[in-house]
Amino acid sequence: MKKKAKIVLIPFFILSFMPYSFAQQRETEPVEFKKISDSLYEILGGRGARGGAYIGDDGVLIIDAKMDQKSADQVIEEVKKITDKPIKYLCNTHSDGDHIGGNRYFSQPVTFIAHENCRKEFFHPGRDGTPSEWNNPELAPFIPSLTFRDKMDVYLGSKKVELWYFGIGHTTGDAVVYFPEEKTAFLGDQLFLGRAQLIHSYKGGNSFEHVRTLTKMLETLDAENFCSGHSEMTGRDGISNHIEQMKKRQGKVKSLIEKGRNLSEVKSEFKEDEARLIETVFNEIKNSL
Ligand SMILES: [Zn+2]
Repeated sequence: MKKKAKIVLIPFFILSFMPYSFAQQRETEPVEFKKISDSLYEILGGRGARGGAYIGDDGVLIIDAKMDQKSADQVIEEVKKITDKPIKYLCNTHSDGDHIGGNRYFSQPVTFIAHENCRKEFFHPGRDGTPSEWNNPELAPFIPSLTFRDKMDVYLGSKKVELWYFGIGHTTGDAVVYFPEEKTAFLGDQLFLGRAQLIHSYKGGNSFEHVRTLTKMLETLDAENFCSGHSEMTGRDGISNHIEQMKKRQGKVKSLIEKGRNLSEVKSEFKEDEARLIETVFNEIKNSL
């Protein structure tokens, strides 16, 4: 009898409490502002990707929105500790949920900005084909209303923020937010350090374009510091190494394909945590043949 009761109880326990405990765990790190200069902060912690905050003369620009109310509220509270200037702009670096989910908790008069392709991707179905939640009319006020194609400058009084687009990579709508005074660029998810780069093929992302896009960024911007959604801040060397690693992987996949290897044989030549990226590169090469 005892044994039977256990068998029934364990799955119930797992189903009821596991998601809760995971959620609790992920929310334990409070939002923290890491100072880069008197005007610029990197936003760490909370649920969702790392972002940024820029304090201008007459208002604040936030980079990426976290993904739940608690974290978004913490971002707003941290801003209030630094300045009484209003949050005027929120720039979404791209359309992934961990960067845009919290938009709805930043109320008027915040203006949402993104690359024009990112705005389109708000409505893109998920990887599994589920329709986007942003089709819901209630969320319409939180979809970017200001978009750009190649470059846009945003002035907060005398302070200039540059929004750049260098091409396809992680998605088709990845913006780079550049602060010339600080020589610091925020890349969103165009850079993963210490783990394989995520490329969203289903949103039109492409690893070969990613290399071209990051190379163009390095050639164009005078930046020295690069902040990204899921990695520590890095310098120009960090970007160059990332590009070289990606090229190396692509070259190896290409030569294995030329030797007639199939996908699982190619994957077995790489580390397990690279599998998703290697599959993406494999498909990109196959599709271009
Ligand atoms: Zn992300």
